[in-house]
Amino acid sequence: MSGCCTPPPFVPPDETIQTAIGGGLHTIALIGPPNSGKSTLFNRLTGLRQKVANYPGVTVEQRMGRMAGVGRDDLVLIDLPGIYSLDPYSEDARVSIDVLQGRMPGTPKPDAVLLVLDSLHLTRQLMLAAPVLALGLPTMVLLNMSDLMETRGGVIDPLLLAQELQAPVALVSATKGTGLESVRLFLNRQSNKAQAQLTLPVLGNAMSTYRWAAQVSTRTGYRAPLSAKASRRVDGVLLHPVWGPLLFLTVVFAVFEVVFALGQPLSDGLGNLLARLGTFGTSFLPDNWIRSLVLDGAWKGVTSVLVFLPQILLLFLFIGVLEDTGYLARAALIADRVMRSIGLNGKAFIPLLSAYACAVPAIMATRTIENKRDRLATILVTPFMTCSARLPVYMLLIAAFIPNIAFAGGLIGLKTIVMLSLYLIGFLAALVTARLLKSSILKSSETPFILELPQYRMPTLRSLTLRLVDRASVFLKQAGTVILCVTLGLWVLANVPVRDGHHPVLEESVIGRLGHFIEPAIAPLGFNWKIGIGLLSSVLAREVMVGTMGTLYGADPETQSLSLQTALHHDLPLGGAVALMVFFAFALQCTSTIAVVRRETNSWKWPALQFLYMLALAWGAAFVTNHLVSSIWG
Ligand code: GDP
Repeated sequence: MSGCCTPPPFVPPDETIQTAIGGGLHTIALIGPPNSGKSTLFNRLTGLRQKVANYPGVTVEQRMGRMAGVGRDDLVLIDLPGIYSLDPYSEDARVSIDVLQGRMPGTPKPDAVLLVLDSLHLTRQLMLAAPVLALGLPTMVLLNMSDLMETRGGVIDPLLLAQELQAPVALVSATKGTGLESVRLFLNRQSNKAQAQLTLPVLGNAMSTYRWAAQVSTRTGYRAPLSAKASRRVDGVLLHPVWGPLLFLTVVFAVFEVVFALGQPLSDGLGNLLARLGTFGTSFLPDNWIRSLVLDGAWKGVTSVLVFLPQILLLFLFIGVLEDTGYLARAALIADRVMRSIGLNGKAFIPLLSAYACAVPAIMATRTIENKRDRLATILVTPFMTCSARLPVYMLLIAAFIPNIAFAGGLIGLKTIVMLSLYLIGFLAALVTARLLKSSILKSSETPFILELPQYRMPTLRSLTLRLVDRASVFLKQAGTVILCVTLGLWVLANVPVRDGHHPVLEESVIGRLGHFIEPAIAPLGFNWKIGIGLLSSVLAREVMVGTMGTLYGADPETQSLSLQTALHHDLPLGGAVALMVFFAFALQCTSTIAVVRRETNSWKWPALQFLYMLALAWGAAFVTNHLVSSIWG
């Protein structure tokens, strides 16, 4: 994506400057347009030796990693944000310029630059080469995706290009790892040059960068792969005004159906296994409160959330495949029409889409939206998108309450329809809220939306595996920390006060009384006091709800022997159960999101407004749902 920006200044390459490099290399910057394969290359060069933080004072992520085997010491590799030009049109670009010029506090000035360009779109990507080379740092240009250039019959001459740019150029493939020895060679050479003199082009005011880039690519005989034509033909169908959206919906349906059909038995199997493991593991403990704490408190709480790992991984496997094939970028284009109708920019689609994983990185991703009001509106509606933390709650309630009924000759199950409806109401709430905001307090004029469509690609096993490992580790970390602490704390509160050596019945415990205290506020929604405790603890993070239920029903002798699904089914009316799903679709129960909105908007006003608005909507919608469902089916 790129906004409309004035091209950076350019001077013909015959005017040159001399750059001196001091002995040795320490810091290397990696720069390139979005989707050029920078992260893949960064991961390849650094392995897992990387660290992610934030640049001081801004919301841009700083990724640094160590690369071994060049010169005497390890090199520090800085992965800069993906940008199309060095025009300071966005926070990302400003950060990149500051780092490259050594003006970013706490970040050393890079000694050399690796410029990553997607060779399938070289002409446009060269527009970033002009201003980067003009900085005068020793720079190597890496033409990435060489594997696709080769298999699809593109023409590129790195030697001619090196002459044009007066910089070393190499064809590489970040996913296959080919051509990377030239990167080491370049860095080794630079590091051995005690006092190197480099001749580099200086860019000043002449012609536009676009014309320059077009001329360079013509002079060097560059030809994009022919399959670009095939790609366009496929686009003709996938982006068709009628077939496009229909296909998109079909894909979404299919994904959810598979997540259910395949995920449910996997999840049940994992649940059984974990339950048996728990009973076996705790049989060595004395049969008193210690065993109860470990088994009924911690183990039941944590594993009741863990069993949803298969569904979450399946969903992200599909999202990964859709993204890596290039389909998601097309979906963004289809969605641009919808985005415009609600007054948001097409750029809002990517953050909103990534919010299906988690609102926190999605809110950080809104910084690519230049217009401040558009950005704020997007931040405010992002938590309505169904994040993966809601999935365990939905899965549990659907499995417990929605019967196995199939429609369309067994193709679509009622469970899938309910799940999709929950995703849909979240999305609709986002649209309506955005429309309201953009036609009132956040009104602004429209900004153009330009999206570069990547070519269709086969997803690689490596990239998919990395995504899944990433999702799984976030989920497991949460289960091992927040959920473990909450469930342990709840178990204690469910077992005090101890009188005459006897534990109280659950209702008389501290947690029971707290639940009863808030019951009047939630009874109209069809929720009982146990759900109330769940709602309170899930303000920390939504999936804590499931762990809490696991612990509460586990601590109650009446429901101890039942599965969590069965216990819930006995304890909650259908109206309350459906209302609970609707409540979760709308409410902002997530302290991390609240914290990140506070940081990004630099005020408590917006997160407070957002929390109250979403709570009011959740309460109202749950109230209506409970009454509707109980009067029809109750
Ligand atoms: P970034 O936005 O520049 O960090 O790009 P990524 O590293 O996320 O890569 C974008 C997509 O291109 C991912 O799906 C990668 O798997 C894919 N990719 C990156 N480098 C190559 C390559 O050399 N060959 C092929 N075939 N795909 C690549």
